[in-house]
Amino acid sequence: MEKIIKEKIINLINLLNKHSYKYYVEDKAEISDTEYDFLYKELEKLESEYPEYIFKNSPTQRVGDIVLDEFEKVIHTKPMLSLSNTFSNTELINFDKRIKKKLEINGDVEYICELKIDGLAVNLEYQNGMLLKASTRGDGNIGENITENIKTIFSLPKELTETVDIQVRGEVYLPKKSFEVLNLTRKEKNEEPFANPRNAAAGSIRQLDSRISAERKLSIFIYGIVSSDNETQELSLLEVEKLGMPINKNYKVCVGIDKVLKYITHWEKKKDTLPYEIDGIVIKVNHIKYQNILGATQKTPKWATAFKFPEEEISTRILDVEFSVGRTGIITPVALLEPVEISGSVISKASLHNKDVINDLDIYIGDIVTIKKAGEIIPKVIRTIPELRTISNKKFEFPKKCPSCSSELINKKDDTFVRCINLNCKEKNIRKIYHFARRDAMNIDGLGEKIVVNLVENDIISTITDLYSIDKSRLLKLERMGEKSANKLLKSIEDSKDVTLDRLIYSLGILNVGKSTAKILANKYQNLESFSEAKLEELLELEDIGFITAQSILEYLGADENKNLIKNIISFGINPKTKINEFKQKSIFNNKIVVLTGKLENLTRNQAKEYLESYGAKISSSISGHTDFLICGSKAGSKLKKARELNIKIIYEDELLNIMKIK
Ligand code: NAD
Repeated sequence: MEKIIKEKIINLINLLNKHSYKYYVEDKAEISDTEYDFLYKELEKLESEYPEYIFKNSPTQRVGDIVLDEFEKVIHTKPMLSLSNTFSNTELINFDKRIKKKLEINGDVEYICELKIDGLAVNLEYQNGMLLKASTRGDGNIGENITENIKTIFSLPKELTETVDIQVRGEVYLPKKSFEVLNLTRKEKNEEPFANPRNAAAGSIRQLDSRISAERKLSIFIYGIVSSDNETQELSLLEVEKLGMPINKNYKVCVGIDKVLKYITHWEKKKDTLPYEIDGIVIKVNHIKYQNILGATQKTPKWATAFKFPEEEISTRILDVEFSVGRTGIITPVALLEPVEISGSVISKASLHNKDVINDLDIYIGDIVTIKKAGEIIPKVIRTIPELRTISNKKFEFPKKCPSCSSELINKKDDTFVRCINLNCKEKNIRKIYHFARRDAMNIDGLGEKIVVNLVENDIISTITDLYSIDKSRLLKLERMGEKSANKLLKSIEDSKDVTLDRLIYSLGILNVGKSTAKILANKYQNLESFSEAKLEELLELEDIGFITAQSILEYLGADENKNLIKNIISFGINPKTKINEFKQKSIFNNKIVVLTGKLENLTRNQAKEYLESYGAKISSSISGHTDFLICGSKAGSKLKKARELNIKIIYEDELLNIMKIK
């Protein structure tokens, strides 16, 4: 065990050192900051449990990385430290508790919150008000002389408004626009683009030829004075500003951690509107006398911390892999994860999609992996870190038998999916029925996942068809199913017969047929019988339906079990006809590109979208020259502005409601 721990620590150190060199020395990050921070925390955790394995070359024992020999070296009069990181509200509340305890304060602490500019730290020395020397942070004690390059920053005064001697620290950064232009020109010259504005800024300021830094349009914000007599950090910022240096004015003095949390939430939402990148918020104790009491570790001040904004990508560990059976019989491997918070929600599972994805990712149980959340969809594993694998991590096999019904699984040549084809597979049927009943499908109120499982497990139903002939007396035998609930459920099932054709097609759960494809099919075929006789040529003629979707529709319609299901559905009196087409022809939205913006008061966005689509509109998320209409609710912003500039017809909510009434 001890041997494994030591091996783990050494592997982590080597890996972090490799990436630290790339990041600080070569200005080329190969992994995301979140991944780096996760690995760093893992190392910190292990080092605190096994202090006998804290090695000198560990990144936890130093600031930054080595300094390149090409630059003249500058010894800092006061070390340039890093910042401790916090990643959640809980961690920040604990930081506040530590401060209160150390300062013996019962009430609220006065903090100053500043934007954490994503660039690189520099130290500037002014003598008699004239810029004398500029250096990078380097390893915290020795930095690189970058004076000539700093002088190319237009917004930084070479001469202050007063003839003072002062040393300040700040962050050099590359504005988003300059970053885009820089990467475009690099692409044109077949040079590798920079991964992010931080690397680009660092690469630009650490140039031996200052003409190159000058071309890059760097900027700077000064965020502190070295050895200040001011009472507070805020007064230091104001002094710096008075001397003519640029400060970031979005700072705020917040009394109490609750106000700090509010400031963070505000900027997390607004950060994309800034013309430069920020990767979090720096929270500092405002009073310098308290800062002095709190002191620093060899790496970070104890009176400040950086709250890092959560990212869409985050690293964690795979604890196990389980396999689920989907409604189409596809077996999906699901990674069970050590729970992590990502974009505000705790994630403990991620999809691994299929066996090819598992093979490509080369996943072992116990591996550290990076997961990504895209929209509301279940997150997926996008990378593993094989360098950190130890012998205790286990490769796992894709099962040969269905985890639900134990029948032999099928994997046809050229099919990425492994499938269970047993018609009586319980799990598969539960998924099918559950999908069928969903709110956006047949909308059977009260038929959620739990009750479907209950009905199937108690042999009351086994397929969709059985839903429409449920015996009430058997329902009543179920636990917690009284007369009232049974009647309600049966009524919902009965009511579901009054469904539109597109919803009915969607509810069948055909592979690759989502809601919008179902709408296209409903408009084409008008009723279920015609749809059940669909031909390949017809399907391929339809907009947005490609060969793969057409093939899965035909595969579905060709299977005996589905032919029977459709026959049964019709025999229960569920056979909606599409009536929309005639109205659609006359609708002003037919074949038009429509964008929605702002808050609608009388209907939800989805209702509006559904209505517009049913009348032939194509919904787009952004305004362009091709947009025909903008549907505009209250508090509309940039889309409304752009629509006006492009002379696009704007329809306000009242007008939309009127149009809807006419139909
Ligand atoms: P940091 O970037 O987390 O925080 C400290 C820095 O914040 C300061 O040195 C300063 O430059 C900056 N800063 C910005 N605005 C500030 C403000 N208003 N007040 C004070 N400081 C402000 O720490 P670091 O030591 O520079 O870098 C460590 C981080 O770098 C890691 O947490 C990781 O995210 C990243 N990193 C990434 C890789 C990679 O491969 N992706 C490698 C090494 C480090």
